[in-house]
Amino acid sequence: MADQLIRATAADGGIRAVGVVTTRLTEEAKGRHKLSWVATAALGRTMAAGLLLASNMKTPKSRINIRIRGNGPLGGVMADAGLDGTVRGYVDNPSIELPPNAKGKLDVGKAVGPEGYVYVIRDVGYGYPYSSTVELVSGEIGDDITHYLVTSEQTASALVLGVFVDASGVQAAGGLLLQILPKAASDEELVGTLESRIAHLSGFTPLLRAGKTLPQIFEELLGDMELNILPERQIVRFHCDCSFDRVLGALKMFGVEELRDMIEKDNGAVATCEFCGETYQASSEHLSELIDELQGPKAEVPVGQLRRSSP
Ligand code: ZN
Repeated sequence: MADQLIRATAADGGIRAVGVVTTRLTEEAKGRHKLSWVATAALGRTMAAGLLLASNMKTPKSRINIRIRGNGPLGGVMADAGLDGTVRGYVDNPSIELPPNAKGKLDVGKAVGPEGYVYVIRDVGYGYPYSSTVELVSGEIGDDITHYLVTSEQTASALVLGVFVDASGVQAAGGLLLQILPKAASDEELVGTLESRIAHLSGFTPLLRAGKTLPQIFEELLGDMELNILPERQIVRFHCDCSFDRVLGALKMFGVEELRDMIEKDNGAVATCEFCGETYQASSEHLSELIDELQGPKAEVPVGQLRRSSP
């Protein structure tokens, strides 16, 4: 199934469900950052969670940033996802590999580490972003972000995330987010039924690998609960908005001395975007232009400062 995100409701609007398939974009991230298997699983789960959480935001430019910082060898995991279906991300130590855990699965919990924090920043595109932090529960990412949803957003939520990777690459990736809205939260029978169905789910990637589509998965979980699958299939993809102009802007911040140093010692500068791994080469000519701009006639002396120095 191609990468996409589908929304649904059930129980007369009391349950909100979102499903996302991220197989190709996770493979792209693996290639861009040369990720090990366990790093692919960690970043893939975080990116899928980012897309699922962003899908519930309202204003068009909304984005969500998930930073997971545990005490394991992987270091930090970062994903940035938008309501527009774009996502990017990276891990601090992409080449870390660990033996499988007791269940024979990629040991994401050990790679991330059981102690640390999840930082979530919600940016609606204007004003101040809203951020919150919760402690890690297991480092397995699904549990940790569910804990964030329940404590910070106070919404009864179940999040199922999965990445299946083997020697030929990412075979299946994505996840499901089910939320019980306040109007249905007091319906104990409904909550109980949903909890037991999610508990019996053998994970997300086995369903995808068995050839199931998102609507079929929704049907299995919620088919007898007035399920309403929304018709829109949103495309999701790995996308980074870095550009050569942005890189030049960042280089300019180093100042005249450092830029001269880059010209003399390296005959230019190479910058790599940490989000997508793209490299940009700035020549000595580019750097000289930046120096000219920094020293130019409109040398940015604030008007206020001029007034102060000439009584
Ligand atoms: Zn980039």
